Amino acid sequence: MQYIVIDLEWNQSMEAGHSKKEAGPAGSPLYKIPPCEIIEIGAVKLNENFEIIGEFNELVRPRLYKQLHFATRKVTHIKQSELEQARGFSKVAAAFLKWVGNEKHVFCTWGSMDLTEFQRNLDYYHIRSPFQNPLLFYDLQRIYCLQYENAIHTRSLESAVDALGIPKDIPFHRASADTYYTALVMRKLDMERYHNELTPDLHRVPRRHSEEYLLNYDDYNLYVSRAFPDAIALMLDLSIRQTPCPVCGAKAVKKIKWFSSNHDFFCMAVCKKHGLLKAKIHVKHADAGGIFGVRKVELSDEESLEQMKERKLALAEKRRKKIRAEKEAAQAEAEAVKEPVKEKPVKEKPIKEKPVKENKKEPAKDPLRKGKKISKKRKA
Ligand SMILES: [Zn+2]
Repeated sequence: MQYIVIDLEWNQSMEAGHSKKEAGPAGSPLYKIPPCEIIEIGAVKLNENFEIIGEFNELVRPRLYKQLHFATRKVTHIKQSELEQARGFSKVAAAFLKWVGNEKHVFCTWGSMDLTEFQRNLDYYHIRSPFQNPLLFYDLQRIYCLQYENAIHTRSLESAVDALGIPKDIPFHRASADTYYTALVMRKLDMERYHNELTPDLHRVPRRHSEEYLLNYDDYNLYVSRAFPDAIALMLDLSIRQTPCPVCGAKAVKKIKWFSSNHDFFCMAVCKKHGLLKAKIHVKHADAGGIFGVRKVELSDEESLEQMKERKLALAEKRRKKIRAEKEAAQAEAEAVKEPVKEKPVKEKPIKEKPVKENKKEPAKDPLRKGKKISKKRKA
């Protein structure tokens, strides 16, 4: 098994706030334009003993965002002139994939974005992704935090290098340096202990039910669904709603049924053998359009059960209040419309009726405003 530590540098639009959102809704042609254009691919190949046996490093001439963003220039120290002399993405990506080769390998990155951005760029250039689905990789930042930070914090590569006392003999933030340092950090990680901690890259989601997959970890499991038109369709699917025990795989019985909070879904179940299980479905936008769910089921305890009960009650109460307010607003609006109808016969005295007209307007103002607020909330 070879380990391929990869690090990409990318550039973005000079227009402030150009984000994926502004590139158009998921699935639309505009969405296909990657917000991050790769300008450097760096990688090192490690053998089973984590010794460096190969290096790849090449700059990429940008096509979308030709001017280096000031933030990219500042961080990477890449010069505009260097980029202009580089080869285009199609050629560099082909050279990189050839260098990766056919030996059995696993990608390793610092953070979870590199492989997603690489595939988005492949898509943009209509280059067929050679990666298998699901694409599983080691997120070394996550493993570092599991080993040294109890998974509480996320750390920059440089702070991990500092914490591990690795000498800093070359500057950071160029792909070649970052892969080199990531490889040195990896050597200090207990990869035997964390060999099962593979992260699925979520750029490509399962296309059909038979491609959906379950990943088993020590005390939790992950299930990745196919894409659905919306969250309602997702939650009508029987597979995503299941809660298999992460230890024995048995079907667990629900203690608290699925409920939604902040666009995600939660539930509590119990396995006869292994006790309480907490489950969450993280609802995500698929790059190719639609939404999909990543369900995590983990071992839990009574304290979490009580917390979830309270949370569900509080949400239900909040919803009741909202519905009550909406009803009251609708009633007030209906009454405001009724009132002037009663006044109609008095129309013959137009001048005197002015205060009545004002009455008609006044009460209508509030409900309208309330209505606006509610619709905004729904969008958010
Ligand atoms: Zn069990």
